[in-house]
Amino acid sequence: MKYSYDLHIHSCLSPCGDMDMTPNNIVNMASLLGLDLIAVSDHNSALNLPAVFTAAKEAGLTVVPAIEANSAEEVHVLCLFETLEDALACSDEFYEHLPPVMNRPDIFGEQVIMDQNDKPVGTVDKLLINALDLGLDRLLETVKKYRGLAIPAHVDKTSYSILANLGYIPPEYGFTCIEVKNPEAAAEFGGHRITDSDAHYLEDIAEPVRFLNLHEKSARAVLEKLRSK
Ligand SMILES: [Zn+2]
Ligand SMILES: [Zn+2]
Repeated sequence: MKYSYDLHIHSCLSPCGDMDMTPNNIVNMASLLGLDLIAVSDHNSALNLPAVFTAAKEAGLTVVPAIEANSAEEVHVLCLFETLEDALACSDEFYEHLPPVMNRPDIFGEQVIMDQNDKPVGTVDKLLINALDLGLDRLLETVKKYRGLAIPAHVDKTSYSILANLGYIPPEYGFTCIEVKNPEAAAEFGGHRITDSDAHYLEDIAEPVRFLNLHEKSARAVLEKLRSK
């Protein structure tokens, strides 16, 4: 079956994410648009995923647990997981690898953790948009440890992308999928390519115009598909 997706959406936990990007607003907007699968992928953290999962369950929407990690090379990597528990464990480990730079909400924006009723229950102290002290190789190892799949994010963006910062997609990393804005980008890459909204505002969440052919509507099926050669 073909399922529509948007696997790169930021919540209000990302300092650059709009405060209207609450767990329920994201789920409701995705449901209204008719999306089958979404991933909420905040910068270096999964702390809003428990609330997103609860909200999505009520709405019958499938969520792929995700984090948008920022490697030491300032390359953004979309990390997808099979379970919420794996994403949260990886998120904890990433937090240890963030530099000890505190967020300045007045400059960068709030980093708000919400419960399933969109009630703020806390904020994250360290600035989440910084680079982890993990080079790509160690970042990929960490994601693998939690059974995740690492996908170079927006590779054709002129900043924070593998092409902008490394100049090419190193084959030794064994990526099976890349995220592109322009479907023609990185034409030499032979694996899967996905296109997501990278929405920071509700109105930017993708219309259901892109599809994955999966045997079932689940996070596991998404990972299996995008991992396949
Ligand atoms: Zn990014
Ligand atoms: Zn992003």
